[in-house]
Amino acid sequence: MKKRCVKVGNVFIGGEAPVSVQTMTKVSTSNVPLVIKQIKKIEQAGGEIVRVAVLDKNDAQAISKIKKETVLPIVADIHYDHNLALYSIESGADKIRVNPSNIPQKGLGLIIKMAREKKIPVRIGLNSGSIKITGKKLSTDIVNAAMDAIKFFEDNDFFDIVISLKTPYVRETIEAYRLINEQCDYPLHLGITEAGSGDLAFAKSILGIGVLLLEGIGNTIRVSLTETPEREIRAGQVILQSLGMRRFEPEIISCPVCGRCQVPLKEILRKFRKKILLMAKRYPAINNLTIAIMGCSVNGPGEAKQADIGIAGGKDRFVLFVKGHITGSYSVNEIEEKFFEKIKEIANG
Ligand code: SF4
Repeated sequence: MKKRCVKVGNVFIGGEAPVSVQTMTKVSTSNVPLVIKQIKKIEQAGGEIVRVAVLDKNDAQAISKIKKETVLPIVADIHYDHNLALYSIESGADKIRVNPSNIPQKGLGLIIKMAREKKIPVRIGLNSGSIKITGKKLSTDIVNAAMDAIKFFEDNDFFDIVISLKTPYVRETIEAYRLINEQCDYPLHLGITEAGSGDLAFAKSILGIGVLLLEGIGNTIRVSLTETPEREIRAGQVILQSLGMRRFEPEIISCPVCGRCQVPLKEILRKFRKKILLMAKRYPAINNLTIAIMGCSVNGPGEAKQADIGIAGGKDRFVLFVKGHITGSYSVNEIEEKFFEKIKEIANG
């Protein structure tokens, strides 16, 4: 179902807006210098929205100081006490995240009233850990809880809503988002909550979020990892780029290397990749390139030909391809200079 568009600070969620990548700071919000330090790293990593935990009035009041130091929209994460949402809105929060399972309706009503006055959206953020479980289906339970909350917001004439339904389980999360996607036109914030850390956490998030995005479901994503916010941002960007939905860096295709390889491909890839990413900071057009770095003649020429620029290994040499044409054959020692000459030419148009 086509989604409404909601504005969070200077970022749009839903409508025709690209899927945004967000994260959460991981230090006490009232420790402003530390929060700012994390937010600066999030900015550098390309994060687009930041959420901060609001546990007390000091945290809420810190939002006004934090906002002076960043252009990123700040979302206040509220549980239990509706007053903290009101203080956060007063302090300049660009959006409120509430968990309707742990805030009484009277408090939610007051949050809605103030959010409407200040024209900021509210995310109804359900987590499987804090809803009433019927013992039947987790996905149905969480969707029912969300629909009850949505009805309450709508009855209060408030429609500036984003929805999230997170569980730590991939299948249940996918099922829940598929169901809610059919039932409402509010933009959806995707995530697998409490995914953990390490390979399994990445796999869960990539699958859960990726499957939904492939089906056209989801308007903003947060990869929840027990790691730094920058790692979460990076993981989100990787998901979007892998699906061809957004481009954050050049697409570098390289072969896994096998016994046929007669060039030092791993070292060349490591060196070239580092240099390409550095150059892309100076010449952003490089981010749009597809670059192939391949080990031998089996798949090398094919991939290199299809890329904007590519090299395919042979016996201690590489063939260089630019826009589908061979431009030369060079020794392992020569290829770096020739390759980067061509990249520069392409970048300069
Ligand atoms: S391209 Fe060649 S070297 Fe690379 S994995 Fe394939 S067969 Fe092996």
